[in-house]
Amino acid sequence: MSATLMKGKPLAERIRAEVAEEVRVLGHVGLVTVLVGDDPASDVYIRLKHKAAVEAGFAATDLRLPADTSEADLLAKLDELNASDDVDAILVQLPLPKHIDEARIIRAVTPSKDVDGFHPLNAGELYLGRPAIVSATPRGVMALLAEHNIELDGAHAVVIGRSAIVGKPVMHLLQQANATVTLCHSHTRDLAQYTLEADILVAAVGVPALVSADMVKDRSVVVDVGMNRTEAGLVGDVDPGALDRAAYMTPVPGGVGPMTIACLLQNAVKCARYRRGELAYPG
Ligand code: NAD
Repeated sequence: MSATLMKGKPLAERIRAEVAEEVRVLGHVGLVTVLVGDDPASDVYIRLKHKAAVEAGFAATDLRLPADTSEADLLAKLDELNASDDVDAILVQLPLPKHIDEARIIRAVTPSKDVDGFHPLNAGELYLGRPAIVSATPRGVMALLAEHNIELDGAHAVVIGRSAIVGKPVMHLLQQANATVTLCHSHTRDLAQYTLEADILVAAVGVPALVSADMVKDRSVVVDVGMNRTEAGLVGDVDPGALDRAAYMTPVPGGVGPMTIACLLQNAVKCARYRRGELAYPG
């Protein structure tokens, strides 16, 4: 029996329509994306985010800075955006050019305008179980699980990947939903030993078909965050053969990918509510 596909597109479209309605009611919601340099992959991501934001009615600014922009100039620009009443949400596209200290730039965005949820304060609030702004991809994963009524309470969830933008936040969110979470990474010995015990498996690695079908527990739920460009096109971290074992599985493309942008827009609305005092930002 083949797994039920947890498709991201229909849910993402619904969320984006809800966001558009919220933006309409709020009036002006300003989202500024900042891209330093001309990395082609980043350019694609920024275009997609910008297009989605415009479609949802945001006042979206696609700010492009040259690759040789100094760290000081970028910090000065962020100061300006932080102080602007027209700007609710700020996104600095990563990676930044090598001469810029990424951690310093992430810390320079006002936490309540940090639409990506990468600021240490937002990461810390999530760690403490009081999520404020949580990065979009992990929220997209959780939204897909909720949409399919996947029971998380008491389930064993295995997350592969420990990045600050996907693996770790997913781990926290699953744990806060009362799953028992095992976090695997590049130093994990015998990955299959863990994946075969996973009621819910989240793969966020960046290695095509790292998880083979025989590593997946029968009738489990598989969320494939991986987006790997190969000669065969865009593929995930999980071999599609796992569809024959899992009960639910996300497709790649069309699974987590569309959710990321939808959840990013939701975060921007949350930033707008913080700035208007409709929601209280922690602290
Ligand atoms: P990353 O490179 O920052 O982290 C990868 C993680 O995988 C690391 O923690 C590492 O320890 C682990 N890892 C590497 N090799 C491993 C192995 N052989 N076995 C077990 N663990 C291993 O990547 P990231 O930013 O977290 O992204 C992960 C994947 O998710 C990438 O394919 C990326 O393109 C994709 N991604 C997709 C979306 C989306 O919207 N769908 C968003 C962000 C990232």
